[in-house]
Amino acid sequence: MQAEYDSNNIFARILRGELPCFKVYEDADTIAFMDIMPQSDGHTLVVPKEQAVDVFGLSEAGAAAAIRATQIVARGVREAFQPDGVVISQFNGAAAGQTVPHIHFHIVPRYVDQPLRGHARQQQDMGVLKQHAERVIAALAKLKG
Ligand code: AMP
Repeated sequence: MQAEYDSNNIFARILRGELPCFKVYEDADTIAFMDIMPQSDGHTLVVPKEQAVDVFGLSEAGAAAAIRATQIVARGVREAFQPDGVVISQFNGAAAGQTVPHIHFHIVPRYVDQPLRGHARQQQDMGVLKQHAERVIAALAKLKG
């Protein structure tokens, strides 16, 4: 059973340019931007452009492109923030913790001395988010060489 896609969900609106985001990466199939309520510094979202609610509705080509982009962006986040570890996660359905019904992958840096902040709880200062986006963009450019 496929979940029905709501084309007015918040990520669909960001993809259409109707709402702002701190974008760090874009290719033909994907964009990535800073999570507005980050669980840790550098928390970044990778969002396929394909209209799919969750992993079950995503095409195989879309899934391959999403993982490729997630790997690229995760390398940039790691380079920018030098965390002790990086969690990559993806939630399907409200019961699994999904709050935005458009498929996305979380890149969450982990620091040994810092507990995670709550999921989708507290909005980050916009100036800080902008600085963090600039760090990831610079790191991706450096890695691209
Ligand atoms: P999930 O619960 O897996 O659907 O995750 C949705 C994520 O989107 C949460 O981590 C939110 O903090 C984040 N989020 C919600 N609205 C925005 C927004 N406008 N810009 C960036 N991130 C957002």
